[in-house]
This record gives sequence, C-alpha cells and structure tokens, in this order.
Amino acid sequence: MSGEDVAFDMIRSSIVLVLSEKPLHGYGIMKEVENRIGKPVNPSLLYPFLKQLEKNDLVRSTKKPVGQKPKNIYELTTTGRELAVRIYKRIASMVSLAIEPNLSICFHCSCKIYEGGYREVIGERELVFCCVHCAQAYKNELSSTQPSEETRERMLE
Ligand SMILES: [Zn+2]
Repeated sequence: MSGEDVAFDMIRSSIVLVLSEKPLHGYGIMKEVENRIGKPVNPSLLYPFLKQLEKNDLVRSTKKPVGQKPKNIYELTTTGRELAVRIYKRIASMVSLAIEPNLSICFHCSCKIYEGGYREVIGERELVFCCVHCAQAYKNELSSTQPSEETRERMLE
C-alpha cells in the first residue's frame, strides 16, 4: 500500500467522521477536515467522493440558503452513521493492536480475536475476521464505499 493510498483513505475517513458530528456544506467539510489532518482537501477529491456516498445512500444532500445563495448541505443517513461508527471502532482497534501485539481484531466488527479467526486476502492484504460472515460483510461494504476505477483515475490525473 503506497503512502498516497493511506493519505487518500485517511481523507475519506475524515470526511465521514466530520459529517457524523454535524451536517455541513462542501466548503465546511473542507475546513473541518483540514483542521483535523492539517492538509487541505482537494475539491476534485471531495465532490466525487460525496457523490459516491450519496449514490450509495450513505449521505444525503439538501439545498439550503447559506449567506446569499443556496448551497448543498450534506448529512449522513442512518447507514452513513453506521459506517462512521465502524470507522471509529477501527481506529480504536488499531490502538488496541499497537499495545497488545498478540491480539487480532476482526476487520469488520472490530471484536477481539484471541485465538483462530478467519483470514482472507482482500486487495493484496491478508485481513483477519472473526468469521466468514464478517469477511463477506466487509467485502460488501468495501464495494459500496470504494470509488470506481474510473473515479480513482480521474482523481489521479
Ligand atoms: Zn467480526
């Protein structure tokens, strides 16, 4: 996994987490994310990602007047909130893993696995799950939140 991929994932996660706190318009999201990660978010990354989230029913947008003109305000749907909770849990599990090296944590539900577990290679990485059902659920989730190849290529231009 390249450094760029990590940064890209971090920005996408931050966008979801920022929206889990309050509904925001595009510029507001950019400001909040920048405050957190200390780097500006490229609008050419933000807007296609918001569109992707909206298409997958994770975010909904409504036009509301902000100052002089109406702007799109983005907020998480119920499914989007569940995604935000999973992101928080994953961050928490990264910390647990760092301080308890013998522990495995299910990549989907974030439960602690002390023995066994189920392993599967997904996207060049071997991931650990508590069971085959969690692996399947993770794959479903991944395909619904991952930008298409086409979107990714456009962002990299
Ligand atoms: Zn699990």
